[in-house]
Amino acid sequence: MTVQMDDRPVAVIGGGPVGLAAAAHLLARNLPVRLYEAGDTVAANVRDWGHVRLFSPWRFNSDKAATALLARRGWHRPPDDVMPTGHELYAEYLAPLAAIPEMAAAIRTNARVRSIARHGVDKVVSRDRSTRPFALAVEDGTGDVRIDLARAVIDASGTWQTPNPLGAGGVPAIGESALRRYLAYGVPDVLGRDRMAYLGKRVLVVGGGHSAANVLLDLSRLAQSTGSLHLTWAVRGENLSRILGGGAADQLPARGQLGADLKQLVETAAVRLVSGFSAERLEQTAGGLMVTGNAQRGSLSLGPFDRIVVSTGQRPDLALTREARLDLDPWLESPRTLAPLIDPNLHSCGTVPPHGHRELSHPEQDFYVAGIKSYGRAPTFLMATGYEQVRSIVAHLAGDAAAANDVRLVLPETGVCSTAPAQIAQGAEGCCGGPAPAAADACCVQDHQAKQEGQSGCGCNVAA
Ligand SMILES: Cc1cc2nc3c(=O)[nH]c(=O)nc-3n(C[C@H](O)[C@H](O)[C@H](O)COP(=O)(O)OP(=O)(O)OC[C@H]3O[C@@H](n4cnc5c(N)ncnc54)[C@H](O)[C@@H]3O)c2cc1C
Repeated sequence: MTVQMDDRPVAVIGGGPVGLAAAAHLLARNLPVRLYEAGDTVAANVRDWGHVRLFSPWRFNSDKAATALLARRGWHRPPDDVMPTGHELYAEYLAPLAAIPEMAAAIRTNARVRSIARHGVDKVVSRDRSTRPFALAVEDGTGDVRIDLARAVIDASGTWQTPNPLGAGGVPAIGESALRRYLAYGVPDVLGRDRMAYLGKRVLVVGGGHSAANVLLDLSRLAQSTGSLHLTWAVRGENLSRILGGGAADQLPARGQLGADLKQLVETAAVRLVSGFSAERLEQTAGGLMVTGNAQRGSLSLGPFDRIVVSTGQRPDLALTREARLDLDPWLESPRTLAPLIDPNLHSCGTVPPHGHRELSHPEQDFYVAGIKSYGRAPTFLMATGYEQVRSIVAHLAGDAAAANDVRLVLPETGVCSTAPAQIAQGAEGCCGGPAPAAADACCVQDHQAKQEGQSGCGCNVAA
């Protein structure tokens, strides 16, 4: 056993899909649990992007221990192949899960964890460190802060609330903070809640991921229904294969479709695409917002715009864990051992070998970061990955080494590795020597070969 089986609970930070799954696994193993959720309901982050339709269907979106708890109360998982929106994921799965009496008893909403430390000592002190409980500073809805003690911590607080900036260098562009009121981060609900802010406006969307794709497609729908909207899309990279996607080869058809729809949008000139653009400065002029940065041919100014949507991804909030001894990858900010498995510099396919408590452990004993936060700045996280992570972590905390070490994960492939932009324009398919054999669990030929040789595969990007 790695933890003393005292009465103190395992603290789970965050009531998103992965935090709730962790709580369900802890309950299944009769380990005391307390889950802290900053929002006034669980899954506050999912609800914030609730208008977005997931690209993974129900069969990938629910956790086994959570499903078992729900099934005992007569819950049936919605049809396997249906893709819910974030709101539906909350209403049909996460909210009923959180309402189960054992779960509800463990959950504290309006409870934001401000810091995590070993009780009574700072990060420097080694003596008897692992025998001390964790001390969590928890702020309630009124702003009062209390200290709660825990025997172990699973930080599943996500990354949604710490978006990457407009500035391509990872720091805010000059003027970004001052002009914040004209900017939206993530995936604003441009067809619903935020519609009025975008009607008839000149809009710049920045970012090369699925969030940017969702925003662009929604804005184009808004333009179709209202007629007047000027849409520009700026991306830092030159290679758009990851976002424009594997199309029919994607094992998640909705994800493939998203890329295909976006490709069509670009090809029909409904959106002006500026690739290879690194934003540096934001200014307000008499005509509107101007964004200046670097492009292939030197300095470039884009604009004028009325609104800017910054969909450049998220990053983990490391301030929360400042006093915990973490071993993080220098650039991904994920656990160091996990990083080579998910590094977007090496993996463009989104395929991740199974990983569990060992890869997610830190020098701070009994402390884990799980869920999308465990990926740090890597963009390819899927819920199914997080469910397997917390299953393994909880088994380890329960002393069940066999279950903890038996990590299995089957994830859908994106069906695309990396192609040059010119190839996309010509409609070329795939990369790395072409598509993998139909039945292979790989996205392209080289990836398939790597897997055959016992390697993790998906290093195709390097060779491409
Ligand atoms: C737009 C979008 C679409 C996505 N689509 C898919 C998809 O189709 N399929 C898929 O598998 N994955 C998808 N993902 C990726 C990922 O699976 C989701 O982001 C998922 O919600 C991650 O779950 P999580 O529990 O790790 O984090 P989150 O869902 O972000 O949950 C974290 C929770 O922690 C709370 N919290 C934050 N800080 C604190 C704190 N200090 N104290 C207490 N509570 C705190 C938050 O309020 C939140 O409820 C998508 C992500 C986004 C953004």
